[in-house]
Amino acid sequence: MATILYQDQFLPRDRGRVDMEDRGYQFGDGIYEAIRVYGGRLFLLDLHMKRLERSAGELRLQLPYSIGHLTDNLQTLIEKNKIDDGLIYFQITRGAAPRKHLFPEGAESVLTGSAINLPRRSAPGEAGIKVSLIDDIRWLRCDIKTLNLLGNVLAKQEAHEQGSEEAILHRGNTVTEGSSCNVFIVKEGRLVTHPADHFILNGITRLFVLGLAKKLSIPVEERLFSTEELFSADEVFITSTGAEVTPVVRIDNQLIAGGRPGAVARRLIDAFNEEVARIRTAALS
Ligand code: PMP
Repeated sequence: MATILYQDQFLPRDRGRVDMEDRGYQFGDGIYEAIRVYGGRLFLLDLHMKRLERSAGELRLQLPYSIGHLTDNLQTLIEKNKIDDGLIYFQITRGAAPRKHLFPEGAESVLTGSAINLPRRSAPGEAGIKVSLIDDIRWLRCDIKTLNLLGNVLAKQEAHEQGSEEAILHRGNTVTEGSSCNVFIVKEGRLVTHPADHFILNGITRLFVLGLAKKLSIPVEERLFSTEELFSADEVFITSTGAEVTPVVRIDNQLIAGGRPGAVARRLIDAFNEEVARIRTAALS
């Protein structure tokens, strides 16, 4: 049976229980991170931990452990679950207290975490995916990685019911991000993606891909882009911890790039794969 993390303890999955008055359960009052694991190692760990600290700060939520201690526990969780390529998910809530909106006094933050095996490219992956364009109805602090994901959940479900893998969200004429990913377009060899402001989550994979683009001398523009630019792009792709770089080949009923992954996405995927191969080799030595 899988091992989970509850506060500072490692427990069998069926012994993981939270209080019914936990504020994560009642208000979505908490934060989370999902970190990729390659070759048993936490990928881009420091960036994830920085984002976690930022999310906690924005919500004035106390982290229950130091980042060093938390990292040790996540690494142990990987080992206990024998994860090679996988995903670690953990969340921290403001704790359990009688249901009142105001921050409770004296409640202790509650941390839970789990790990799964996630082989690379199990999804449609490199062949490209179909997505749906859906209205972005979320709140105005999408930069905080909170447990409140109902706007994202509804969008993803709507996309799924339209036969799509993902929802690309728009506010009015502006494309923001996906329901659980960031969105990039390519126009005349230039990458364009929404700036990291309150309207999107600044994805760790987004940051990593921006770094790869720089190394490959691919010009980047972090600026607003419209739904018209999305549909007329030379290429579209999404990025996330789970999906890495995944080309989009159809939006609603329109083919993108003739329905095949584009050359810029290909270069970024190749560079991504090289980086993962390097990490796996280092993990073995
Ligand atoms: N935006 C949203 C709304 C997300 O949920 C995610 C993934 N959790 C991302 C972007 C991508 O972030 P990351 O690359 O850190 O997985």
